[in-house]
Amino acid sequence: MSSVSNVALQANVLVLNRLYMAVQVISVRRALGMLYKGDAEVVHVQEEGYFESFTFDRWLERSLERMGCWEPEDDVLRSVRFELEAPRIIRLMSFDKLPRQRIKFNRRNLFARDGNRCQYCGKKYAPHELSMDHVVPRSRGGPATWENIVTACLRCNVRKGGRTPQGAGMPLAKQPERPRTSPLLSTRLSSRKYHSWKVFLENSSWSIDLT
Ligand SMILES: [Zn+2]
Repeated sequence: MSSVSNVALQANVLVLNRLYMAVQVISVRRALGMLYKGDAEVVHVQEEGYFESFTFDRWLERSLERMGCWEPEDDVLRSVRFELEAPRIIRLMSFDKLPRQRIKFNRRNLFARDGNRCQYCGKKYAPHELSMDHVVPRSRGGPATWENIVTACLRCNVRKGGRTPQGAGMPLAKQPERPRTSPLLSTRLSSRKYHSWKVFLENSSWSIDLT
């Protein structure tokens, strides 16, 4: 697939287990590998609210029929010989594992919870300009939990040093909490591209793991 448009390969795909429960979000590149091997099928949600399943071959056929008639929100993989619509949802054929029960604590989820905003100066930054800051410093026994770690820009992090927000005179924008729904997923759902995911996320969105 080296000649295929890279942007579409990096779009996101919601993964359902065999029981149609959302378990993960992966890249189109990984999803295509699973589809090609027959480990998964495409689940396509129609505008009218029902969905249809496609094997890889049938999905390819459908894309050939639609060639040239794409909607603006479609991601299309293009090579010299074919165009393939990037699937938005796939279902694993032999996977009964249940979704995770807790949202993983990591940089990406933390920055997403805080909207990529430094919780001290309130400004928005690119992820590489952000850091994780212990509200109550580690040196004073502050734990590494959702409730004690916030997003901070590098400048504010250095300025605050080993002090509490009060000690540094740097009040927090808001009280940090454990998110109830997956923060990255909420970001994705706001995009028109991923509207079709909602059908499968109404009851389980908070437990999805994003990779
Ligand atoms: Zn800042």
